[in-house]
Amino acid sequence: MMNVDKKKIAGYLLFIIVFFAAGIYLSDFSFESREKIIARTQILMGTVVEVRTRNENEDRSNSAINAAFKEIKRIDDLLSTYNSKSTIWKINNSEKKKYILSDELFNFLLRCDSIWILTEGAFDPALGSLTKAWGFYSDTPSVPAQKIIDKALLKSGWKSVRLIDKGIIEKESLLLDFGAIAKGYAADKAIEILKSHGIKDAFVNLGGQIKVTGNSWTVGIKHPRVFNLLLAKLKIKNYSVSTSGDYEKFFFEQGERYCHIIDPKTGYPASKCKSVTVINKDGMLADALSTACFVLGPLDAMSLINSIPGTEGLVVNSSGNWFMSNGFKKFLIK
Ligand code: FAD
Ligand code: MG
Repeated sequence: MMNVDKKKIAGYLLFIIVFFAAGIYLSDFSFESREKIIARTQILMGTVVEVRTRNENEDRSNSAINAAFKEIKRIDDLLSTYNSKSTIWKINNSEKKKYILSDELFNFLLRCDSIWILTEGAFDPALGSLTKAWGFYSDTPSVPAQKIIDKALLKSGWKSVRLIDKGIIEKESLLLDFGAIAKGYAADKAIEILKSHGIKDAFVNLGGQIKVTGNSWTVGIKHPRVFNLLLAKLKIKNYSVSTSGDYEKFFFEQGERYCHIIDPKTGYPASKCKSVTVINKDGMLADALSTACFVLGPLDAMSLINSIPGTEGLVVNSSGNWFMSNGFKKFLIK
């Protein structure tokens, strides 16, 4: 049974309906003037996925959009930790230590490995036991006892995964979790599919993970605390924008907010930021970096982002202060 984040889905859909009725096509992330937009949404990967083309032939758009949704569903079936038919779910739920993977999956893990090194472990795709301990795979997350966290910490961490040889990995009994990077990967692949169908001008949004191709698109970043307000508007052309926030999946306990992004060092939800947006041409990298930077906090996030060519970012820290990377301003619309 797909455990879909109902509140979040309802919020997205309400947002789209209200603004669509007002004659502007606004989703969380983009205002469009009245151009010939063909837009469709589906619920995939536990979130609202939108695919749009602009000023394209209608038939070609619809068949390209169908193919893009099919590709995102294929990746969902490969990488989901929610769907018992997915490859990763089966690996997570088997006692074996060694696995022979498809070239695609092995290359995906090689990329994860390189980003884990780049972020000094702040992005860690083997934290499933901690996500589970905090209840974020269920509808009823809560603060676990310290000994539960300690136990889950021992059963977490990409350091215990070995990419042995082409296609073979070995892992201890831990839970892989690609929640922070798979949507970025899916956005990259969806844009590739749209282009292979002859689409030149398109926009893909997987619940906050955006990728665009063709002319420039206007993208808005949600305010982390005010539901229908934008924090900022960006103009991007052939880029991916990823936003990670503490307002996506969270709960309060004794007045403290706990979100779904975990600090791999402590096993606790990260709390130095409210929202992190990263811009890069590569959706997978942008997605993983926004999560890693959320864990690192503003100062380390800024030095990491400024050290990676072609990457810009905006961090809103836990007190609501903005930190922008050196070239972020060029994307901002006043
Ligand atoms: P990001 O910052 O992009 O990622 C946070 C997620 O990454 C966390 O939810 C956790 O899974 C993981 N994570 C936490 N800390 C770290 C860290 N330090 N390093 C690396 N990873 C970390 N949700 C549902 O409710 N139902 C579903 O059926 C469902 N199916 C999914 C299928 C797929 C293939 C994927 C990728 C996700 C799915 N989700 C589902 C999860 C849901 O979409 C998550 O809320 C989403 O992945 C989190 O993305 P984000 O942009 O909010 O946060
Ligand atoms: Mg992410």
